[in-house]
Amino acid sequence: MLNEKMLKLGENRSVIREIFEYGNKRRLEVGAENVYDFSLGNPSIPAPKAVNDAMVKLLTVTDPVRLHGYTSAQGAPDVRKTVADSIVKRFGIEANADLIYMTCGAAASLTICLNAVCNEGDEVIALAPFFPEYRVFAEKAGAKLVVAKCRESDFQIDFSVLENAITKNTKAIIVNSPNNPTGVVLSKETIQKLADLLSKKQAEYGKRIFIICDEPYRELAYGVEVPYIPQFYDNTLVCYSYSKSLSLPGERIGYIFVSPKISDCGKVYAAVCGAGRALGFVCAPSLLQFVVRDCIDLTSDVRVYKKNRDLLYNALTDYGYTAAKPDGAFYLFIKSPEPDANAFCERAKKYDLLLVPSDSFGFEGYVRISYCVSTAQIEKSLPYFKKLIEEYF
Ligand code: PLP
Repeated sequence: MLNEKMLKLGENRSVIREIFEYGNKRRLEVGAENVYDFSLGNPSIPAPKAVNDAMVKLLTVTDPVRLHGYTSAQGAPDVRKTVADSIVKRFGIEANADLIYMTCGAAASLTICLNAVCNEGDEVIALAPFFPEYRVFAEKAGAKLVVAKCRESDFQIDFSVLENAITKNTKAIIVNSPNNPTGVVLSKETIQKLADLLSKKQAEYGKRIFIICDEPYRELAYGVEVPYIPQFYDNTLVCYSYSKSLSLPGERIGYIFVSPKISDCGKVYAAVCGAGRALGFVCAPSLLQFVVRDCIDLTSDVRVYKKNRDLLYNALTDYGYTAAKPDGAFYLFIKSPEPDANAFCERAKKYDLLLVPSDSFGFEGYVRISYCVSTAQIEKSLPYFKKLIEEYF
């Protein structure tokens, strides 16, 4: 007898993967240049040259036994120190190597943090729309995922909805800003209000509630500040990833930062180490750990994403689509012109526009467009977006 839950997860491919596979079929049939695949969040820009140079240098000058050997389970000490020093420098918040746990990207970071803090029956709040894997990760940690929808007008937090979602069983809330799938950056006012609400609820229930910040898109922000939550709220765990900031999603590297302001941060860090051990996420890829150490201040040249955002947002709103203007990430979340977003996405396929319906993000009636594609491809797709909405006039 297999584990039924795991079997179901493995057999049911994600909606996004289904669309991507459909795109592969269409690429063979009509040619890649005629398929407008906006389904995946795979960076379209290369890693900075300095990243490749650092890899080559590491491969040629470092002792291969050390380079490819196991590091400490939580990551090499000099790598963790470099990450901690950079947090101190960037955010003016205390940090040290013993609060950093190197992981295989944000996905591993999230699942480690959830397993570190949750017990069976705890509740974890996700702000909808949210990255669909949150449900999988929370449930695997024994928690129930509770959904609190954001305000539809601007996709900031709806505090009356959130307040109702918090109960004596709430253990954590996951905050993702810039957001997948809306691209919205939560404002300083929103984060301050969130910190105040959670502090009030902690006092009311006499227990702590963690914020788990999911930060793969931190560096992808276009002219706005992305508030750093540990500056606002003590009980915070940060899940950072280099997948998007350095265009290295296939290399699987990121880290967890346990805020030193958590009263027993040493114990929480130990629980993170324990969860990493239990899940087998120990000793993140060593070559990539050293690349992070040597390229700590680098980010990919994300200007093309801003260019794509402006082109797509301006054209689509001009044609009559509605969307909250995204200030970050590489997603645009548009309202479906018919209530059923799945039906709209099916119709879009007629023009080989591949869009993702929003249902799996916990917010019906929208579609996500990943604009991490070439600007030329977006330009070519615009007449089809125009024709598509004209079908509803
Ligand atoms: N969280 C969000 C919101 C994401 O969009 C993604 C990936 O697209 C992840 C986490 C997982 O990222 P990683 O590649 O760092 O595991």
